[in-house]
Amino acid sequence: MVKSKILLEESELPQAWYNILPDLPKPLEPFLHPATGKPISPDDLAPIFPRALIEQEVSMEQWIKIPDEVREIYKLWRPTPLHRALRLEEYLKTPARIYYKNESVSPPGSHKPNTAVAQAYYNKMEGVKRLATETGAGQWGSALSFGCDLFGLQCTVYMVKVSYEQKPYRKILMHVWGANVIPSPSNKTKAGRSILEKNPDSTGSLGIAISEAIEDAAIHDDTKYSLGSVLNHVILHQTVVGLETKKQLEKVGDYPDVIIGCVGGGSNFSGFSFPFVKDKLSGKKPHLRFIAVEPTACPTLTKGPYAYDFGDTAKLTPLLKMFTLGHDFVPPPIHSGGLRYHGDAPLLSLLCNEKVIEAQAYYQIPVFEAAAIFAHTEGILPAPETAHAIKAAIDEALECKKNREEKVIIFNFSGHGHFDLSAYEAYISKKLEDYEYPEEEIKRTLGYLPKVGV
Ligand SMILES: *Cc1c(COP(=O)(O)O)cnc(C)c1O
Repeated sequence: MVKSKILLEESELPQAWYNILPDLPKPLEPFLHPATGKPISPDDLAPIFPRALIEQEVSMEQWIKIPDEVREIYKLWRPTPLHRALRLEEYLKTPARIYYKNESVSPPGSHKPNTAVAQAYYNKMEGVKRLATETGAGQWGSALSFGCDLFGLQCTVYMVKVSYEQKPYRKILMHVWGANVIPSPSNKTKAGRSILEKNPDSTGSLGIAISEAIEDAAIHDDTKYSLGSVLNHVILHQTVVGLETKKQLEKVGDYPDVIIGCVGGGSNFSGFSFPFVKDKLSGKKPHLRFIAVEPTACPTLTKGPYAYDFGDTAKLTPLLKMFTLGHDFVPPPIHSGGLRYHGDAPLLSLLCNEKVIEAQAYYQIPVFEAAAIFAHTEGILPAPETAHAIKAAIDEALECKKNREEKVIIFNFSGHGHFDLSAYEAYISKKLEDYEYPEEEIKRTLGYLPKVGV
């Protein structure tokens, strides 16, 4: 009998996260100070992040112990199931074996609490009273609200105004978990006020909301900032996903040929894939392929330059070397809110630049078609972000069918779509449009990138 659900015991939950830094083919380029352009020191980050997370950001230890308190909370929903997508395989009539790791079973419905809980824990340990963060559609905001609530921390979420007004349900979820949610741009910060002076009707962007949250943390002693993706420590925490997946595949004696995930800032893809990237980098699995999937409307990895850029609009963050569409990028209105960030994780960017990882972009209508096929065969309604990974997995499986190949394809099911029903409504009533970010915009962006001496 083929197993359709591969489960782990609570005792098999990983004891340590995997840190890829010491295993990289090239060292990561340093973060640069936004004002001086010189490499930053840990002290520069101390006003906004707790010590423990700054240490993790630059650690060269391959394994970092998951604190017992964090493991205990992980057990609310972890280990998560690995599913064999038997009904999807049958529907596609593919000889490929398709697996997906189900991160949608967490309380906020995505992979994001894997880092939210860890970050809340380390802040609590260092006496921090409040965390400030940004959120687009509300997935990260709800995950951090949940994490803070568990540790008795206050949580302030700057939510992109257009989502605050048009997507009330995640905002309500944040309120239930005790957070204070502020529409951004707001008049609470200098960054917000300066945007509103120029454009009182600004509907906001992730870049602006990040500026507001960082400023809030920088000027309040009892408050730190928290980021839900992009940074090394976030990816570190997400490796619990890939480590569990590896154990689960061992139980059924399988190993992947192709590993797929969607990319917004890169945390779910990286956390899922890096424990396998380790096998490729060490030469154990030279033919293993990795596909990072993004929307054509925000084609960071497929079209952006690999360059130093700011993480936010107000240029408060350090400069990161990454694939980027420019810090003033305003994304077209697609329904995958979580995939509309202008940059990507430096770790993932480096591995893409080294050709260890491939990138692929899809239009949103075929992505929703893939989501509908998935819901029809496997039952779960995917988040629109997750559906990008499903689309790529289906394409790979159809390629296997054409070539009569029995490959093993695995993807990360990063979250469910229960809060995205208005997007599905638009899909069903044929109101979705396909967007491609214009080439001229990408060229214009290049002109705006900060000049650094590297
Ligand atoms: C936030 C989110 C993403 C994108 O963020 P990454 O950091 O790239 O993982 C993808 N899927 C879901 C369900 C999300 O909530």
